[in-house]
Amino acid sequence: MKEETKLIVAGRPHRRPAHPVNHPVERASTYLFPSYDDFLEGAKNITYGRLGTANHRALEETVNLLEGGYETRLAPSGLQAIVASVLAFCQAGDQVLVSDAVYDPTRKFCDRFLKRFGVEPIYYPPLIGEDLADLVTERTKVILAESPGSLTFEVQDLPALALVARKTGARLVVDNTWSAGVYCKPIALGAAVSVQAGTKYLVGHADCLIGSIASADEETARAVFHALLQLGANVSADDAWLALRGARTLAARLARHQETGLKLAKWLSRRPEVERVLHPALKSCPGHAIWKRDFTGASGLFGVVLKPVGLPALKAFFNALKLFGMGFSWGGFESLCVHVHPERYRTAEPWTEECPVIRIHAGLEDADDLIADLERGFSAMAAAKT
Ligand SMILES: *Cc1c(COP(=O)(O)O)cnc(C)c1O
Repeated sequence: MKEETKLIVAGRPHRRPAHPVNHPVERASTYLFPSYDDFLEGAKNITYGRLGTANHRALEETVNLLEGGYETRLAPSGLQAIVASVLAFCQAGDQVLVSDAVYDPTRKFCDRFLKRFGVEPIYYPPLIGEDLADLVTERTKVILAESPGSLTFEVQDLPALALVARKTGARLVVDNTWSAGVYCKPIALGAAVSVQAGTKYLVGHADCLIGSIASADEETARAVFHALLQLGANVSADDAWLALRGARTLAARLARHQETGLKLAKWLSRRPEVERVLHPALKSCPGHAIWKRDFTGASGLFGVVLKPVGLPALKAFFNALKLFGMGFSWGGFESLCVHVHPERYRTAEPWTEECPVIRIHAGLEDADDLIADLERGFSAMAAAKT
């Protein structure tokens, strides 16, 4: 089945003699079992609200089919999905290798939380590839990747990282949010775990937070399940329902995000105000060749390195935008544009460029309207400079 079809057929109810197209929202903490045998039987599937309802199972089935996993579990946010996927495999004394371009809250979890429990994060340059083997010790339990990287969009060589992980008994955990699980399949590329902030494209409407964790095999899945359970993670049935509703249109939305994103990226790359565009589908993006090899498409999020410009002119640019909103997160139907600061986070490979970096999310508005908006921003920028 192609991705478009998987997203439509997975997780649908099949009750006789009739059933709604989608599972209705099933809010429950307590489930009642009519007989003792039902009580025993129920424990295998649905027992208690925190362990999920039919809405959770339907979404898990859908994401799992998309990610090609053995099993998928949900977390209340993308961040907690990452947290659980790391905690599942380490204990005091272990090391975690972390991409230097990882999502900043992931980094803070490693630096401020993992360290307190005796787990040491070690950052590696995102394009390190097979040389990651030089950093691995017998204490390495998790290799954390995010491809492309947050803010700077380096596309990582996941098969090379997976090989290093397999040789050393560590698990490769990949943040696959950017591809929405549609354009990249980390598990097929050798990862043990593929995580998504479903908050972004899966939900797609900027109105709910959720995370997914797809595991490649039974042992990995069991460890992830127990980590979530012991963390007390709970996803509301309403949010699981909303995310599945979003997932039904994911492929169609993503195709449009891709088309508009590419159009904007190409237009921007020809602008005199722009130093270079960090869009994985363009040659100017580090790791572009790997994107071509491992991805089947690009979503709507990319970076732009501007030529040096003063803060007043940059402020004028942002304040002139009418369609692009300034806001965190991405993956919704609305376009976003924010000033980002990779220089604040990097340690393994410092980001030393003085040029401002902006991050654009191409929403579902008309592409030419969006280009006109950016043009308005650049005009305001030029006016502020004089
Ligand atoms: C947003 C994001 C997350 C975290 O998701 P939340 O649902 O906000 O916790 C994780 N990874 C990446 C790459 C993200 O962009």
